Amino acid sequence: CGIVGYAGARPALNIVLDGLRRLEYRGYDSAGVAIVDGGLFTAKRAGKLANLEKALQDEAGLSAGTTGIGHTRWATHGGPTDRNAHPHRSADGRVAVIHNGIIENFAKLRAELEASGIEFASDTDTECAAHLLAIELQTAVGDTPGARLAEAMRAVCRRLEGAFTLLAVDVQAPGVVVGARRNSPLVVGRGTGENYLASDVSAFIEHTREAVELGQDQVVLISADDIVITDFHGAAAEGRPFHIDWDA
Ligand code: GLU
Repeated sequence: CGIVGYAGARPALNIVLDGLRRLEYRGYDSAGVAIVDGGLFTAKRAGKLANLEKALQDEAGLSAGTTGIGHTRWATHGGPTDRNAHPHRSADGRVAVIHNGIIENFAKLRAELEASGIEFASDTDTECAAHLLAIELQTAVGDTPGARLAEAMRAVCRRLEGAFTLLAVDVQAPGVVVGARRNSPLVVGRGTGENYLASDVSAFIEHTREAVELGQDQVVLISADDIVITDFHGAAAEGRPFHIDWDA
């Protein structure tokens, strides 16, 4: 129901949690985060953000990684439980994915993935996107780890039907968050030495008022200094830049 991503120089965890708090008004039943910090740190809980924050406080050391994604869920496929909360990781633990919307052809994709030996850890439609992304990453071509993550995301999106805003991080692409959208909103927040992604500008309005609205069927890569937008086939594309001049 709410999505936040951050790539920059500051620790991502609190920025992502603050962003999720700004999206709370939309309603949700679960929340979670993934931070790239050498490894892939994830935490997720059913219930209010306070439950997630409590789980994070119980962690031995909070992640100081500067790349992260966060999600508030409004369950459509699979009950509102800890295991169904996002992020969802690929079976190899390499990527974490969050999703707003509904992947209409998930049952077919799940059956195909299970037939290839992958064990699912949740009942969500979303999890198939995490496994597909890890598989596409094995053969994705690109000059940098981030470019390969974006290429793999495009390949996954070409297989998905329905409505989705997706964000992904890859432990092998530190400093990068990749997003995609079809029939569901995604906005970039353009900062200085840092960039944001969110389902709604209110998530990052306290940090920047320069935004870019993604168009239909587009993929975006953000890093601290770059915003790269393409269509689902890799052709360069442009979003709609705008200045947020209202008070949130
Ligand atoms: N369909 C996904 C799920 O049930 C995402 C729901 C949402 O948009 O929060 O987990």
